[in-house]
Amino acid sequence: MGFVTDAVLGVFSNDLAIDLGTANTLVFERGKGIVLNEPSVVAVRTDRMKNRVLAVGLEAKNMLGKTPGNILAIRPMRDGVIADFEVTEAMLRHFILKVHRRRRFVRSRIVIAVPSGITPVEKRAVVEAAASAGAREVFLIQEPMAAAIGAELPVTEPKCNMVVDIGGGTTEVAVISLAGIVYSKTIRVAGDRMDFAIIQHIRRHYNLLIGERTAELIKITIGNAYPDLQNLETIEAKGRDLASGIPMSLSIDSEEIRTAISEQIDSIIETVKMVLEQIPPELSADIFERGIIITGGGALLKNIDKLIREESGLPVNVVDEPLSSVVIGAGRAIEDVELLKKIITE
Ligand code: ADP
Ligand code: MG
Repeated sequence: MGFVTDAVLGVFSNDLAIDLGTANTLVFERGKGIVLNEPSVVAVRTDRMKNRVLAVGLEAKNMLGKTPGNILAIRPMRDGVIADFEVTEAMLRHFILKVHRRRRFVRSRIVIAVPSGITPVEKRAVVEAAASAGAREVFLIQEPMAAAIGAELPVTEPKCNMVVDIGGGTTEVAVISLAGIVYSKTIRVAGDRMDFAIIQHIRRHYNLLIGERTAELIKITIGNAYPDLQNLETIEAKGRDLASGIPMSLSIDSEEIRTAISEQIDSIIETVKMVLEQIPPELSADIFERGIIITGGGALLKNIDKLIREESGLPVNVVDEPLSSVVIGAGRAIEDVELLKKIITE
């Protein structure tokens, strides 16, 4: 019934904002807030050409690493680009329909936050995927811009802000001023690579093979970006002993995990420094004063802010909700058309 009222009032209350992340997809519905938050994972059957999609989101993530031969759990956005158009489209369609539930006929306007390094071809792929999933109009905005809006930074003013978004597949470092991205750099080093580094470390040192989800759990539970020998934490790592082939578990401490992921952390720090070196001096002066904000799930890694602060010599703050700042910012843009107009990317 809400639909009739909305139509009469001319309010498009079912407009959506989507953060199509490499690890997680979030949907914000105008007037409601965040209505969906699921892993960007799709389980497909490899023995079929049609109706390949078996499960999407959380259900599919739970199948990761546990699938029989004919089922594959895919992360279609893994590196921040659309690796598999058909699967991305199926995923978007699934999430959009899930949000609309019974109101299948509803055709919303959709704002999608995409990585700033995305190519025109990839942009078109995202727009087409959303359109074929039932969107009436699709607008794209850049993720760092959305994150900055979500963090309540004054993005439309002539003040320079630096945003570091550490996600699953990519880390984006962006400098924003006057509603535009002045400079940005994306690297394919973020949470996933840390997980792989943990898997490799444990295999090399203990001959124990652990899965991706176990590695992520270890990182989230005891991961640390900064040496902290006084507060060592430990966790049981469970996997398969490569010599005997049987399940085994061993105790790992936080300092060991810190060393295991230090190469990835260093790459992120180097990228921040490189961007700081390459921007014009007027912008540097602004950032020197205003500092850096970090967001994305990787911002939750213990002491990552401390390390960036120490390495850059600048004030560093983690946003309030690192996993949802992008969708909150994009959501604010669908609720404020004037703002949206300023930040839409071509
Ligand atoms: P994306 O925008 O690419 O989808 P997200 O911002 O959702 O990525 O972040 C996902 C990444 O953040 C994953 O690699 C996940 O393991 C990592 N992450 C989530 N929570 C934590 C935590 N507490 N400590 C370290 N990493 C975390
Ligand atoms: Mg993200």
